[in-house]
Amino acid sequence: GTNGKSTTTALIGHILNACGFQAQVGGNIGKSVLELAPPEARSVYVLEMSSFQIDLTPGLTPDIAVLSNLTPDHIDRHGTMENYAAIKARLLGQTAKDGQVVIGVDDDYSAAIFTRFASNGGPSALPVSVGKILGRGVFAVDGALYDAAGQRAAKVMEFAAAPRLPGVHNWQNAALAYAATKSLVKDSRAIVSAIASFPGLAHRMEEVGRIGKTRFVNDSKATNADAAGRALGCYPDIFWIAGGKQKEGGIKSLKPLFGHVRKAYLIGEAAPAFAATLDGLAPYEMSGTLERAVESAMNDAAAATASAPVVLLSPACASYDQFRDFEQRGDAFRALVAKRADAMRAAS
Ligand code: ADP
Repeated sequence: GTNGKSTTTALIGHILNACGFQAQVGGNIGKSVLELAPPEARSVYVLEMSSFQIDLTPGLTPDIAVLSNLTPDHIDRHGTMENYAAIKARLLGQTAKDGQVVIGVDDDYSAAIFTRFASNGGPSALPVSVGKILGRGVFAVDGALYDAAGQRAAKVMEFAAAPRLPGVHNWQNAALAYAATKSLVKDSRAIVSAIASFPGLAHRMEEVGRIGKTRFVNDSKATNADAAGRALGCYPDIFWIAGGKQKEGGIKSLKPLFGHVRKAYLIGEAAPAFAATLDGLAPYEMSGTLERAVESAMNDAAAATASAPVVLLSPACASYDQFRDFEQRGDAFRALVAKRADAMRAAS
């Protein structure tokens, strides 16, 4: 899907390893596919596939394929949203006939793809929703996960038990991972306890430090507006560092969340366009560099009346204008926070 691929992939690998399988995780995350070890008994390959990689591997036949969601991204490469959605759907179409496709059905494009799979003779299709109660499928409502894949819906876990999967978007990832592993791991309690012990991934709403009352959250992986919106929705008082190499549509879709933004600190090429969108709706400054943005955001958060301010790096942009990749950008943020925390400790 567009978002949640790495988290869901890593979580599926974590669940399988915790449940006695030999999961090898790779593809668009960590090792490339051909670097993974050859199969042994109980080996399962858990691969994250970007739309680019799906495009280039028409011969891959997964036993289980997962589609998380579809929102506009990478349209520069794929031309139109329809073409982008078709590429993502292609992987599901390559799934083994006796296999399974697991589909998040909360956006129109993915829901249409589900309908297509549910009504043809291919692999069985399992829908996953956050917010909707499904007669058949796996769903999350009111902070809990429900399994209605077989007969009646049964509550299987409260998300409060999984602290490293914060936010409604991570409920979707957890629900997808649960649905994807159900046919391999028969014991749903084992899956749930593995979800609860998931350590989380770097650069995805990763708490990297705390100075006084201020928390610092590294969400450098949020390279599009939809992903950044997920993080903005999680905290009420945000000092938001955003910008970089701009994506189609900018941050216009995030206007309903600007009420959470105490101030924005804009960096990189996208800064002027983001400023135009924020103008009159939320305060901002043109920080230019990440270093200046962190410095200003820290000082403003420390001086704010909010009881739990969050300095959030969630750029809604690619990183290539100022950094090698999103990891380097997130590491730079973490290092700036650590440097400042050390200086504060030395001074006190
Ligand atoms: P991907 O590998 O698809 O880019 P990640 O799991 O690395 O996805 O998450 C990237 C960012 O996208 C996270 O920082 C978070 O803000 C957002 N995100 C994660 N999961 C979801 C989801 N299910 N729906 C929407 N946004 C998500």
